[in-house]
Amino acid sequence: MRTPTGQECQYFFGDYYRGRNVEVCRLLKASGQDWSPDLCKSCPVPGIQRANSCQNLQLRATVGRPLDAMFMRRVQISAFCTKTARTVKEPQVGCGECHPLPPIFSVPK
Ligand code: SF4
Repeated sequence: MRTPTGQECQYFFGDYYRGRNVEVCRLLKASGQDWSPDLCKSCPVPGIQRANSCQNLQLRATVGRPLDAMFMRRVQISAFCTKTARTVKEPQVGCGECHPLPPIFSVPK
C-alpha cells in the first residue's frame, strides 16, 4: 500500500472506506512505537524493500532522533536473517547466504 508520501510499503495500512481515516505503520506498531505520517518521508524501509525481497530478512524499527538529522524524528532500522540467525549490517544487500554476489563484484586480494 502507498504511504502518505507516495512510496510503496508493505507495512503501511490505510483504511479510508466510508469516511474512515485510519492509518497504521505495522512495523512500528509491532515494536510498540508511535507512528506519524511525517516518518514515512525519510524512512529507509521502502528502499530496502525495493532492493531486497528476501523472505528471511526481518526488519525491526525504532524511532530515534539522530544527530545527523538535527534531532528530528527518524525511523531507524535493524535487520536480522532468520535463516542464518545473524544480524544483517546492510539490509539492502542482505547477509549473502541465499543470494551471494557474483564474483565480478569481489575485490581481488
Ligand atoms: S514509517 Fe516506514 S515502515 Fe512505516 S509505513 Fe512509513 S515507510 Fe513504511
